[in-house]
Amino acid sequence: MNQAASVTTRFAPSPTGLLHLGHAYSAAFAHHHARVSGGRFLLRLEDIDAGRCRPQFDAAILEDLAWLGLDWDGEVRRQSRHLDEYRAVLTRLELRGLLYPCFCTRKDIEAEIARSGHAPHGPDGVLYPGICRSLPAAERQDRMQAGQPFALRLDMAAAVAQVGPLHWRDLDEGMQVAQPQMFGDVVLARKDTPTSYHLAVTWDDALQGVTLVTRGRDLFEATHVHRLLQALLDLPVPDYRHHGLLTDESGRRYAKRDRSLTIASLRASGHSPQQVRALAGFDSLSQQHP
Ligand code: GLU
Repeated sequence: MNQAASVTTRFAPSPTGLLHLGHAYSAAFAHHHARVSGGRFLLRLEDIDAGRCRPQFDAAILEDLAWLGLDWDGEVRRQSRHLDEYRAVLTRLELRGLLYPCFCTRKDIEAEIARSGHAPHGPDGVLYPGICRSLPAAERQDRMQAGQPFALRLDMAAAVAQVGPLHWRDLDEGMQVAQPQMFGDVVLARKDTPTSYHLAVTWDDALQGVTLVTRGRDLFEATHVHRLLQALLDLPVPDYRHHGLLTDESGRRYAKRDRSLTIASLRASGHSPQQVRALAGFDSLSQQHP
């Protein structure tokens, strides 16, 4: 008998392309952990990037998962329908004095880095050099009134100081000391939408009662930022598991550009769901995580 406590997991793709084998493995990983524990498996479409998400991919994701036999519980949550919630969450952070508007373009950031001759890097590349953090209030006001587009950034040092030391648990790697500082002043609302990946994913995982977040190893570091947001917003802290990324024969990660390895194209070329499940490594899940 399986003694594991029942967990709620989720698969949270962005509908910017068709699902490939790597996505299928990630979905199966979350599905497996929910089902072996007698828990729930949720599906969420992270479609906040209006410029890159397409409704046809949204429909294709649902179809592919069903074809693969990955059934989900409850309604699909689409982030684009909840922008007001994210706005309200931002207001809470704003009231704590932790957000500032950032008017910088990519060019402004590059120019500042070139000028300072100093370019510390974080997991997502070069760190924001803080240009807009100390803009005088009057200048902020003027630029906003003039209609200049702006993002909202988290004042990382101030946020970390407010919450003190934090930890989170990865079920494979053990307890982790949260180190969100490695990301610098992350964007919590993009210029084109009142949220960002970090804010929406953290909020939704809590709102949907996710108790075990599973996702690829490429998002391991992002969890440090999510832990900080949980502390700032008084949200429960789930457990985490970051799985390895599936690679092709040459060792390259599957990506949306690999059209031939999408679930849809494998299906169209006559593969059965069982064959695609095997290609995506579903069988190894019950061996590794019985
Ligand atoms: N939406 C993200 C992606 O497509 C994944 C989010 C997550 O699992 O935390 O890569």
